[in-house]
Amino acid sequence: MSDTSTAITFADLPLSQAVIMAVQDVGYESPSPIQAQSIPHLLEGRDLLGLAQTGTGKTAAFALPLLSAIDLKQRDPQVLVLTPTRELALQVAEAFQRYARHMKGFHVLPVYGGQDMRGQLRSLQRGVHVIVGTPGRIMDHLRRASLKLDNLNTVVLDEADEMLRMGFVDDIEWIMEQTPADRQVALFSATMPYQIRKIADTHLKEPATVEIKAKSATVDTITQKVCMVSGFHKLDALTRILEVEPFDAMIIFVRTKTATVELAEKLEARGFAAAALNGDMSQALREKVVDRLKKKSLDILIATDVAARGLDVERISHVVNYDIPYDTEAYVHRIGRTGRAGREGTAILFATHRERRMLRAIESATRQRIDNMRLPSMSDVRDIRIRQFKDDVIKAMDMGEELDVFRKIVVELEQENALSYEDMSAALCFMAQKERPFPDAKEPEQHRREGRDRTDRGERRRDGERRGERGRERNNDGMVRYRVELGREQGINPGDLVGAIANEGKISGQSIGHIRLFDNCSSVYLPEGMDKSVIEALKGARIRNRPMELKLWMGDEPQTGRRGRRFSDRGRQENGRQETGRDRRPRRDNNGKR
Ligand code: AMP
Repeated sequence: MSDTSTAITFADLPLSQAVIMAVQDVGYESPSPIQAQSIPHLLEGRDLLGLAQTGTGKTAAFALPLLSAIDLKQRDPQVLVLTPTRELALQVAEAFQRYARHMKGFHVLPVYGGQDMRGQLRSLQRGVHVIVGTPGRIMDHLRRASLKLDNLNTVVLDEADEMLRMGFVDDIEWIMEQTPADRQVALFSATMPYQIRKIADTHLKEPATVEIKAKSATVDTITQKVCMVSGFHKLDALTRILEVEPFDAMIIFVRTKTATVELAEKLEARGFAAAALNGDMSQALREKVVDRLKKKSLDILIATDVAARGLDVERISHVVNYDIPYDTEAYVHRIGRTGRAGREGTAILFATHRERRMLRAIESATRQRIDNMRLPSMSDVRDIRIRQFKDDVIKAMDMGEELDVFRKIVVELEQENALSYEDMSAALCFMAQKERPFPDAKEPEQHRREGRDRTDRGERRRDGERRGERGRERNNDGMVRYRVELGREQGINPGDLVGAIANEGKISGQSIGHIRLFDNCSSVYLPEGMDKSVIEALKGARIRNRPMELKLWMGDEPQTGRRGRRFSDRGRQENGRQETGRDRRPRRDNNGKR
């Protein structure tokens, strides 16, 4: 059996204890291939040329070893990461912050154009260990001498081919010249065009080269589909697919152990027979869970790559890649869990706009075009529920004598009240469907927008500006109010809040509701039912290098000189009914039906 997961664990790598603890906290089970290959070289201080794209885990591949070598007492920048966009700068800075959660006093600063210069200068004066920025703004600081690179140990060029595409090559050259001659350089790029190869040849000394080779494989019996859906909307998309797609058994792949448990709990709460399968579970327990899947007392397993190694259950008709895999080999291995023993299988991939490169790589590795899947609409869900309801009624009519007592009640009802059988049946249907209502076929706003709600960089950048426009269209139904301990006096604006929440929580800007700024705090509405991991990530997030300290809003609004300004006003829409994903239904039997 092919095995794509790396045999080594994070504990096998000579990373610092603080970093290993953080990796455990975030729930990563094992290093992704790019991490397993890059981390030892970077820890040794070697230059590195990494051919890797977004989604491979490349940020941790450089952040974990570089953090392990940080001297917290030294407050001049030790690591400089150059990124093509503000969006990526924020993401990388947030990743450093996340992996440095056990490194007391650690500071990372994202710098990019358009951001308030004074705040950046203050932070630089206070001292930072890692600086992540776009080339233009880094050059500004170097020219003003507000950024000194004398003590720099490492430069990372992230998404180098994107920087080339955006015309930053000369800037990179200039910045590299300002760095100490003996610094370490790590260059990551999805492709290796001539100009990037030239930068590598000029600035990297005998680099170790790391490349995740895409082996191709044929998967003839498996139908592949892709659903472009991001972050917070994934759960709803999955629920709709589970309702509408006829499946026997399904395996859903996620990236972390924590996610297996959280998703299993959410699906169970929605009435599906689901369970988690992860590397924290003992071998005996894992076998028991797989046995339940074989014996049909479970229909859905939510697994990590490691836990699903070698899984061979004939009845798995569907694989859902809820989180995109790190590389094409992992993808081929995952989808190979279906289509066993010559059966047909279906593989559904959830991907965000940013992950489209990996999607293309998967298409070429599997030598198949992966067609776009239309997300089932509310009216599809409604039609299916009605059809299943009718089937259930007809099935119940086979109960024979057991129905006699009810027949008597119906006859009495009809005689005592002079009711029509049609009216009575309708009332009974109404009562019977309460547990699993037929949803309003009207599509909620957020799904109609999903096509445009891509998390690509350009869209996100405009999030702050579009608050007002969106605000008029939506309300706070299904939202919870949170408090952030930063306000006008800390110099933040709604765009900062949207940027930090969207990036750190990996939720689309569209899912963020009203924002109100007060003097020393703000309030923001976020979707209810967010993953614990998202809330945890947001609690640790920073804006302008200050902690957000997100918590539930309690009590009244503060009395301030200026009234809190409303940036996104969603008028209440009485008939804008929300998701069905939250419907509580009785547990289903092992056909996935009630
Ligand atoms: P990147 O390729 O750096 O953009 O990372 C893609 C995603 O993979 C991020 O959401 C990371 O949190 C996640 N990730 C990175 N390394 C691991 C790992 N070893 N196990 C699970 N998830 C990971």
